[in-house]
Amino acid sequence: MSANEDQKKAADSQLPNDINENIEVSIEKKLKALYSLQQIDSQIDKIRIIRGELPLEVQDLEDEIAGLQTRIAKYKDEVKLLEKQITEKNNSIKEFNTLIKKYGEQQMNVRNNREYDSLTKEIEFQNLEIQLAEKRIREFTDELEVKNQSIKESKALLKERESDLKIKKNELKDIVEETEKEEKALIKKSEAYSSLIEDRLLAAYQRIRKNARNGLAVVQIERDACNGCFNKIPPQHQLDIKMHKKIIVCEYCGRILVDDDIAAQVKQNL
Ligand SMILES: [Zn+2]
Repeated sequence: MSANEDQKKAADSQLPNDINENIEVSIEKKLKALYSLQQIDSQIDKIRIIRGELPLEVQDLEDEIAGLQTRIAKYKDEVKLLEKQITEKNNSIKEFNTLIKKYGEQQMNVRNNREYDSLTKEIEFQNLEIQLAEKRIREFTDELEVKNQSIKESKALLKERESDLKIKKNELKDIVEETEKEEKALIKKSEAYSSLIEDRLLAAYQRIRKNARNGLAVVQIERDACNGCFNKIPPQHQLDIKMHKKIIVCEYCGRILVDDDIAAQVKQNL
């Protein structure tokens, strides 16, 4: 037997061990790929949430602006009505004064006291009407001032909100452009890591992720608990997870669990 064949035989006898090591390495690789994929997909989720919230802020501002414009238009209508009412009252006062003048002239030509007294009563009545009209004018004028003040305030607020909207829209445009670029790069990375994971495992990852409220399918053990559902993981279970001999899921929530070691290595490389 040659020295070479000896070596070969020795290598053969070590084969089972090698396979075991290979399994561990490959499970470890899978776990790292899964955890990496999770980190990247979570970043994509975050970007999408941020981008989803900005249009809502813009919508809120647009709604507020529309509300203010409606309010200002309503106040303006009310101002017009008040001005019309004041003009009407002023016209009435002119008419009352004309009547008073007419009755005064008629008093010069009365035939008896009864006619004179009756005209005096008419004049008194018209004077009362004038007082009443003046009182209404004062009330309308006060109301007018309040309305004009409200218009002024609403207009100032409108101007402020319109400028806010302009800023928000620019911000949104910038963020959308920026995050789309970022998102594209992340999607590429996500696809690269996905390609490292076998189809069945990847499908499981996607299924767990879809069902999890926070989009987490692979979580780290933190303070002896699953970082997805926060239930305590028994020590023996934790030990198994650390061994990297198989992929282990949380018995409460079904998420794939990784130990600190995997998490730390992934976070260092990302
Ligand atoms: Zn869990």
